[in-house]
Amino acid sequence: MVILLFGPPGCGKGTQARLILDWFKPRIIPSISTGEMLRAEMAAKTPLGLKTQAIITAGGLVSDDIINEILCARISQPDCAEGFLLDGYPRTVEQAEYLDKLLAARGLPPPVVIHLDVPSHVLIGRMISRRQCPKCGRMFNILTDRPKVPGRCDDDDTPLIVRKDDREDVITERLKTYKEVTRAVLSHYESAQHFQISGDRSAAYIFEEITKILEGIVEGERYQGGGI
Ligand code: ADP
Repeated sequence: MVILLFGPPGCGKGTQARLILDWFKPRIIPSISTGEMLRAEMAAKTPLGLKTQAIITAGGLVSDDIINEILCARISQPDCAEGFLLDGYPRTVEQAEYLDKLLAARGLPPPVVIHLDVPSHVLIGRMISRRQCPKCGRMFNILTDRPKVPGRCDDDDTPLIVRKDDREDVITERLKTYKEVTRAVLSHYESAQHFQISGDRSAAYIFEEITKILEGIVEGERYQGGGI
């Protein structure tokens, strides 16, 4: 199964991705976040990280060529042979078309699209108050999902940081990019398995909705004799 978590920045894709991976255990599903991959490149100051840094911190989109190349390299790894979860890709119609070709070439089915829909004013508030663990990537929110020890990650005690692109001016730009470019990806998936969930709820509520969807799909595949 290929799961595609889709929605505006700050809609909770990363949080739900973690919960979904846990739900599938003991089966291990690779979770691929192009944003996390790019942040790792920036932190390591690789040529790719240095090249993309200015675009990311300004709230724009990295070019399709670059992103498609890193995605192709990642899903060519053996752990992706049976499927994976995508968070933050595809973000343009060109990327969606490229993904179609990659999946077909690997004999994988079209993705199950889970769209988390959240109004812009909620997103801005959420992103301004979120904090991330630079080591494990876990997100917290100083208003709604506080770490047990203020300023430190619950999982590995690393000091939490504010992402460079979580400043209000950059957030506004990211939301604009989403509306003008990324939202159009949804129409590409009109005929695919496509589920819309109102993301303006608690993470636990949203996850319950997602598990209902996934249970239905996993049951269906079991019935047809397929795996995830
Ligand atoms: P969010 O979903 O919160 O905006 P991400 O971590 O998914 O954050 O992405 C951070 C940034 O990385 C994006 O604003 C963009 O600049 C870049 N990026 C991530 N994925 C893609 C993609 N598929 N295509 C182009 N740029 C991307």
